[in-house]
Amino acid sequence: MNRREFVKTSVTGLSTAGVLRAAEAPARPVVISSANGLKATNKAMKMIRRGEDTLDAVVAGVNLVEEDPNDQSVGYGGLPNEHGVVQLDASVMHGPTHGAGSVAALEGIKTPSRVAKLVMERTDHVLIVGEGAREFALAMGFQNEDLLTDEAREIWLKWKSQLNPNDDWINPKDRVSGSGLGGENVNLERILKYHGTINCNAVNAKGDISGVTTTSGLSFKIPGRVGDSPIIGAGLYVDNDVGACGSTGRGEANLKTCASFMVVEYMRQGLSPEEAGLRVLKRISENTVEPYLRDETGRPNFNVLFYVINKKGEFAGVSMYSGRQYAVHDGEVNQLCDAAYLYEAKDALE
Ligand code: ASP
Repeated sequence: MNRREFVKTSVTGLSTAGVLRAAEAPARPVVISSANGLKATNKAMKMIRRGEDTLDAVVAGVNLVEEDPNDQSVGYGGLPNEHGVVQLDASVMHGPTHGAGSVAALEGIKTPSRVAKLVMERTDHVLIVGEGAREFALAMGFQNEDLLTDEAREIWLKWKSQLNPNDDWINPKDRVSGSGLGGENVNLERILKYHGTINCNAVNAKGDISGVTTTSGLSFKIPGRVGDSPIIGAGLYVDNDVGACGSTGRGEANLKTCASFMVVEYMRQGLSPEEAGLRVLKRISENTVEPYLRDETGRPNFNVLFYVINKKGEFAGVSMYSGRQYAVHDGEVNQLCDAAYLYEAKDALE
């Protein structure tokens, strides 16, 4: 087959697949989310059943988690950056209108997913960052609030106290049981960096699809660091003819592979949600060549998860490593399910 024939076949194949899929509708609506999203999937499903728009539904679902001070990976109560400031990232995509909006490094606003949705609805832009995003949110009537809870601040202070044995920051616990200032780091209470995010995607009975991803990002990050969550194609992608994918886990890996976009494109070529997700996890694993990001067997020493649905209402949660779950409301039951995985986990990974 020469190049021209190949291109012709591929293009025909793709458009045929698109037409076929447009005619397929799910037996029931489906809402999928990361494991911290069981109340989000429940809320979104209720709204979808009432006939509300899929994007309104998933955003209202994740708002419950953004506003929850006990989820330290998202919105209010999220763990802060290196300087103790909470900076949030979020994106939305609305399948029926091929709309997209996102915000990054947003400070002072509890519900960045709602701001991202307004970027889509009220501007000609897709992504607004930093102080501009905060000013936009204030113009839209959002309240500026302190997002750092006492619990998150305590965790940040503990992290800060373990950074440098030659500085003067002490974790009170280490003062009595560990090394306190300087010296040997015996029994030091270790605070690791955390990943965490919520992604939520939905398909309704008509086959319309939307998605949202929202996060406080990597804890103790360098101020201004932006992860995959607000980047269309990395932490979220929706195509109303095909399906949706969103992600949690190491954002840098998704940014370098346009991961969510690739999952949706593999589904366009005919792969199931699980096959498409695993295929992209394999690509991420193969592309992880930096020694400091690989374990002793050469595999990535981090996790990435995808939450995938297609237009027919088929779905999968997939994870680089075993032992992880995802939330799904399949139109009948709202529950946590075990994610499919690429590798058996030896140790607990984020
Ligand atoms: N993907 C997010 C980020 O890198 C964090 C996470 O989901 O764990 O900002």
